[in-house]
Amino acid sequence: MSSDHFETRAIHVGQEPDEMTGAVNVPIYATSTYAQDAPGEHRGYEYSRTDNPTRHALEVALASLEGVDPEANGGTISAGSGMAATALIGYMLKPGDHIVLPNDAYGGTFRFFARVLSEHGVEWTAADMTASDGLAEALQSNTKLVWIETPTNPMLRIVDLGARIEEAHAAGVKVCVDNTFATPFLTRPIDHGADLVLHSMTKYLGGHSDVVGGAIVTGDAELHERLKFLQNAVGPVLGPFDAYLTLRGMKTLALRMERHSRNAMAIAQFLEGHEKVSQVIYPGLDSHPQHELAARQMADFGGMVSFRMKDGPDSAFKMTRRTELFFLAESLGGVESLIEVPAAMTHMSVEGTELEVPSDLVRLSVGIEHVDDLIADLEQALA
Ligand SMILES: *Cc1c(COP(=O)(O)O)cnc(C)c1O
Repeated sequence: MSSDHFETRAIHVGQEPDEMTGAVNVPIYATSTYAQDAPGEHRGYEYSRTDNPTRHALEVALASLEGVDPEANGGTISAGSGMAATALIGYMLKPGDHIVLPNDAYGGTFRFFARVLSEHGVEWTAADMTASDGLAEALQSNTKLVWIETPTNPMLRIVDLGARIEEAHAAGVKVCVDNTFATPFLTRPIDHGADLVLHSMTKYLGGHSDVVGGAIVTGDAELHERLKFLQNAVGPVLGPFDAYLTLRGMKTLALRMERHSRNAMAIAQFLEGHEKVSQVIYPGLDSHPQHELAARQMADFGGMVSFRMKDGPDSAFKMTRRTELFFLAESLGGVESLIEVPAAMTHMSVEGTELEVPSDLVRLSVGIEHVDDLIADLEQALA
């Protein structure tokens, strides 16, 4: 089943009714192995580390959403978490290779490259990917990979994908875009030339805060082959139950992203007029320094809003403890709204580095509850 429309593909691609029973949902294939007709003669599946039909359905669907036709070129590799997927990419690098990271990378990504892979001889540089010369200055003769996030976390800066990818490719360097925040509903990095797209499916793709998972999508058959080999050799796979939950979540991605975006815009506007707030960061606001780029590159502006408190970190701590609908928690991208103080929670590991975030910063993952209730909750917490 193929369609030009994202909404239709999210529900149909890779998800034909079960041949034997007509079941309209992809079954959870809770099996580790598959009976063979003769030695070495199997029906496409041998062992579930290598492949599993539930996982396969999710991988085909996600590839399609990112604009990859798995019949033609490349595909998806889904792993047990976003970090497991990142680690698989790490296995493609060798001692002496160099990677360019964004200077406000997701904390776990930074930790993996700066504190784990660096011990295996992989060098890294953090660059400001939003500056026109940021990447150019960081590229070296041994650079093998450029890592991009847009919008970034938690400062929600927008990176010009077309420009940065062209620069990297001109230097013969591959590019991985972490598309966790935007999701393919808002931005499709492969359309801009990205070689690899990384997802923490834990966030918007799963969308219900009930599963941890990760994926890499690529439109490059060679990279896909290599990553498939590495996944089977190293072993970080997504289980069939988690694959099922993620696939179920993905069916409503379009609906959810529309509502996340609409709610977030209303909340950003509310916060921008609030006397206790010194700055609101949301790509949909005219006040966002890269609003025009965001409008060009994204179908909508997403569900993440960050803001700074006028009275400093203490007031950020106080207000985040007073919200009732917004749960004080790490993570993002679920139907329920979350609030956090990055400097004290998600971004503790980057304290004292060039990735440090302001201590009075509050980050919201705006859910799909009624926006009036969400604004009322913030209003009472700020009072
Ligand atoms: C959460 C997250 C990750 C890591 O994914 P896990 O599923 O938690 O391992 C990577 N990148 C971004 C942008 C994230 O938000």
